[in-house]
Amino acid sequence: MSRTVYVNGEYLPEEDAKISVFDRAFLFADGVYEVTAVVGGKLLEFSGHMARLRRSLGELGINEPASEDELLAIHREMVARNGLDEGLIYLQVTRGSADRDFAFPPADTVPSLVLFTQAGPVIDKPTAAKGLRVALLPDMRWGRRDIKTVQLLYPSIAKMEAKKLGKDDAWLVEDGKITEGTSNNAYIVLEDGRVVTRPLSHAILPGITRASLMRVAAEHGVTIEERPFTVEEARSAREAFITSASSFATPVVEIDGVAIGDGRPGPLSMRLREIYIEESLRNAI
Ligand code: PMP
Repeated sequence: MSRTVYVNGEYLPEEDAKISVFDRAFLFADGVYEVTAVVGGKLLEFSGHMARLRRSLGELGINEPASEDELLAIHREMVARNGLDEGLIYLQVTRGSADRDFAFPPADTVPSLVLFTQAGPVIDKPTAAKGLRVALLPDMRWGRRDIKTVQLLYPSIAKMEAKKLGKDDAWLVEDGKITEGTSNNAYIVLEDGRVVTRPLSHAILPGITRASLMRVAAEHGVTIEERPFTVEEARSAREAFITSASSFATPVVEIDGVAIGDGRPGPLSMRLREIYIEESLRNAI
């Protein structure tokens, strides 16, 4: 069945959903995006995703396409029109269409807004029970990874490289330290039970799941230490996991060919997954 896609004010069958070849995201990757999980027809972490969207737009000087209330109404309409019970809503805002020029078009250029849905399980995914195997690859992305741009060629290449190596994903490495996964934040658990993840900076995306997970972990007495961690620490960790809107917290069972712990999803990773899911379902709108 054809999905209904939102393009610049219109709800269209996906075959009719079109964007100009002059759109700056097509020509310059001049756009940003958000992915919001939907469970039971409700949106998870919606206000967090919209806050980060506003920040990404602000950092790049792209006009806001709509207010948060309007964006909420569009998300809900997309859930309804697509009969979406469980899956993801992808939203993209671009600087808009203009003649090809490295210089930005005039400040009043109308941004493009596109949304589409992807139905499928987000909670009961086999990877959550099995755990992920990650390769380590050099982080060759640009210097403003804190902005959620559609410039995803290197993460996509790294994911393919990991698959070629027979792994599920890659963790990216800069100066001997892990930055994050290709599309997720990275964590290790030390022998003493402390969780370590890289602090926010231009080097990583400020994950919405990361922020909530850190909050609920603290409420449950789990300390998360924010500092960069080395490849060696990752390889000798007791447990490891990732977070993202589409994977919540998902255990990592192998890093760079080395089994983590006993090679099965770690108990703390699974517990954090459970408490995060419980909390985010409770706050879904
Ligand atoms: N880092 C990167 C590079 C990502 O692409 C993502 C997911 N978009 C994340 C982290 C996780 O962010 P979130 O929890 O907001 O999905």
